[in-house]
Amino acid sequence: MKKLIAITGASSGIGKALAYKFAKEGHPVLLMARRVEILEKFDIKNKVCAKVDVQNFDEIKNAVKLAEKKYGPVDCMINNAGIMPLDLYKDQSLEDKYSTMDINVKGVINGIDAVLNDMISRKEGTIINIGSIGGRYVFPQHSVYNGSKFAVNAITEGVRKEVAGSNVRFTLIAPGIVDTELLSLTKNQDILDGYKNLKKELKGGLSPEAVADTTYYTYSLPQMVNVKEIIFSHTNDGN
Ligand code: NDP
Repeated sequence: MKKLIAITGASSGIGKALAYKFAKEGHPVLLMARRVEILEKFDIKNKVCAKVDVQNFDEIKNAVKLAEKKYGPVDCMINNAGIMPLDLYKDQSLEDKYSTMDINVKGVINGIDAVLNDMISRKEGTIINIGSIGGRYVFPQHSVYNGSKFAVNAITEGVRKEVAGSNVRFTLIAPGIVDTELLSLTKNQDILDGYKNLKKELKGGLSPEAVADTTYYTYSLPQMVNVKEIIFSHTNDGN
């Protein structure tokens, strides 16, 4: 059996595609999300499903322990869970602003901390953080989301530099628009309509499967090759 892969936010979109891709490549997978009942229905044999809110470190850590008992150490942690409730900054609720930072940034920190020291001790392992093109370029109505993804860039790059000597890889995957449920928390109808029109022009954007394939490619390279960052989008997307 190949090594264990842990994925947060595995219940839909990119996380679900990652789950199926790594499973198809022969890896056991630890699938984490709040909607655990969705994960349990996935047609994947070697899996552990855990109800996890990434804002809670203990929930991630306990899920990792459970899966490691069955499949050995996590070789790759993919911090994918995220939200994007879009609005003009002046109109966005404090609750949405805080959740964006807590899930997209604190969630990534919790995922890293659940496995990093073990990886350093073993001198092996990979941490992949799902950032965004919104972590490089700022767009209107995205201020706090942009802030969260800029933070993911900085954390990924900073920790990578610190642990490089321990043979642990850190990769940032930064896609443009992907066809998923990410817009579901945006309440402002004008913003939703504008985004949906843009997606239509891009034929839906990237498929989650394309993101999963790209992510798997970076992982599949030998441990001595650390792809530091990939920024990519649908070919029609000039942003
Ligand atoms: P989806 O909305 O389809 O999936 C988001 C996933 O995150 C779900 O599985 C959800 O599971 C999980 N999630 C949300 N909040 C929490 C939480 N508190 N604890 C645990 N899991 C949580 O969106 P995407 O697949 O598009 O998003 C995945 C990542 O990709 C995000 O980080 C996003 O920022 C990034 N991204 C997306 C792009 C796009 O255009 N779609 C572009 C660039 C980056 P559940 O609700 O069951 O907990």
